[in-house]
Amino acid sequence: EETVVIVGAGQAGGEVATSLRQQGYEGRVVLVGDEAHPPYQRPPLSKGFLLGKMQLAQLYLKPEATYEKFNITLKLGTRVTAIDREAREAVLQDGSRLGYDKLVIATGGRARLLPLPGVEQRKLGNLFYLRSIADVEAMRARFEAGKHLVLIGAGYVGLEVASAAVQLGVKVTVVDVAPRVLSRVTGPEVSGFIEGVHRERGVVFRMPAAVQGVTLDAAEEAVREVIVAQDGVEDRIAADLVLVGIGLTPNTELAAAAGLAVDDGIVVDEMARTSDPAVLAVGDCANQPSAYAGRRIRLESVPNAMEHARVAAATVLGKPVPSPAVPWFWSEQFGMRLQMVGLSTGYDRCVTRGSMENRAFSAFYLAEGRLIAADVIGRPADFQAAKKLVAVKAVVDPGALADENVALASLVG
Ligand code: FAD
Repeated sequence: EETVVIVGAGQAGGEVATSLRQQGYEGRVVLVGDEAHPPYQRPPLSKGFLLGKMQLAQLYLKPEATYEKFNITLKLGTRVTAIDREAREAVLQDGSRLGYDKLVIATGGRARLLPLPGVEQRKLGNLFYLRSIADVEAMRARFEAGKHLVLIGAGYVGLEVASAAVQLGVKVTVVDVAPRVLSRVTGPEVSGFIEGVHRERGVVFRMPAAVQGVTLDAAEEAVREVIVAQDGVEDRIAADLVLVGIGLTPNTELAAAAGLAVDDGIVVDEMARTSDPAVLAVGDCANQPSAYAGRRIRLESVPNAMEHARVAAATVLGKPVPSPAVPWFWSEQFGMRLQMVGLSTGYDRCVTRGSMENRAFSAFYLAEGRLIAADVIGRPADFQAAKKLVAVKAVVDPGALADENVALASLVG
């Protein structure tokens, strides 16, 4: 029987499986995942699930019965350890082999380790990374009121954890080498606004500051202090808990060992095919061409995982549709919803609409008169219009963007 094997039962892998059925695939579908859970959404891990407001079953993308109904074979708690491209077989950790006609790699990524000698590979009882349900389960009970959390990394994950921790009564200090929060993904206006919201709730920022090392407790099992250098001065921050959120390392080892092209992710074409047309790759682990960006990009977001998975399913079915690969993303902090579309790198003008004070504003990023990105806070209608404008990098009048009397939707051609 014709078979598709999917490696990795995360957001993208799960969507490939169900999408194959929805698009009419009649062969065998096997979804192999090394976690104990069926495909689940990770965004709540740093938000509602960390806060204890969401239950485990609410994280699951589909109830387990759905996979049965769709005749999708789920193999959970099992790793694929090798891909034998010549035999067209995936090798599982117990040595058994699964034959495939098409293989989809959806292995995602893992949290980047803090690059400190003596800390990197070490298991420390109060130093955490956040990628999986298991990670949250290990840390959640430790988020007790009055404890001090040192967050290393002022990206989305770090800021969302800061927001959740403060709501749980935990004191938070954020350390980053960058001069401002979210520096890789947004402009100074939005960084300044978000930092202000966090400060108002008592979050302390130590930025730009480099983590030099840590001191350990007597048993050398936990971090006692985080050593930072700020303005050339060394300081020690006492910590009950440390969370490291400094980015993601894509899981590409399996692909590389199988001789597939890898370059910041598994290299795929517009149809999600790797350098071997029988093998596809999707989601966080894949590096894809983007017509929007005019170059290859690797995206780490739910919308990309979902869209890319559908592209891969269509390719398997022989009716390929190219991936849009226009990045968009959302975040939630202190009850505010942030939505971003596009990549603002290289913008020459930022125009805002709405009111920062009322926490309802949009920042539009223009390059040579074209709208290349937008950050939207508390104005969901702006976001829908901005997505359309950014997708085609529309030429827009900055005055109209700033003027609340001009409906954004009217600018969409
Ligand atoms: P993953 O979801 O990581 O799935 C990959 C799966 O493959 C994992 O289960 C992994 O264990 C498994 N695997 C790896 N190797 C093997 C192997 N050899 N054999 C078997 N299984 C294997 N995105 C947003 O858009 N908005 C948000 O607000 C947001 N918040 C986030 C918050 C957190 C805390 C995190 C961690 C991520 C967040 N993201 C958010 C990003 C989003 O969750 C990811 O982009 C998305 O999960 C990517 O899906 P994926 O399937 O490519 O990878």
